[in-house]
Amino acid sequence: MRQEAIPLPPDVPTCVADHHPHLVRTYGTPRGANVGAPTPLVMFHIECCRCQVATVPHPSLAITEARWTDPAGTYRIPLSHLTRAREQFAAAALAA
Ligand SMILES: [Zn+2]
Repeated sequence: MRQEAIPLPPDVPTCVADHHPHLVRTYGTPRGANVGAPTPLVMFHIECCRCQVATVPHPSLAITEARWTDPAGTYRIPLSHLTRAREQFAAAALAA
C-alpha cells in the first residue's frame, strides 16, 4: 500500500484559514485484507494534521470532497482511525 499527498483543489474549502489540509490518494490493498482479494485499488481521503481529522476513505473523489465539506461532519474521523476505517471498507467491499 502506498500513499500520495495532493494539494486540495481550489474549490474545496480548508478547515481553518491558515491550515493546509490535503487530499491523500491511497493505492493497494489495506493491511488485514486477503492477499489477492478484489479490494478497491484507489481510495481518497482529505486530512488536516493540525486538526487531526480526516474524512472516511472512499474510492470516489467527489464523495470524498462532499464528506469534507459536510457541515454535520458525519464522515470525519480522527486521523488515528484512518487505518481501521480503510480495513472496514475493504471488509465491507469483500462481503458485498
Ligand atoms: Zn485544520
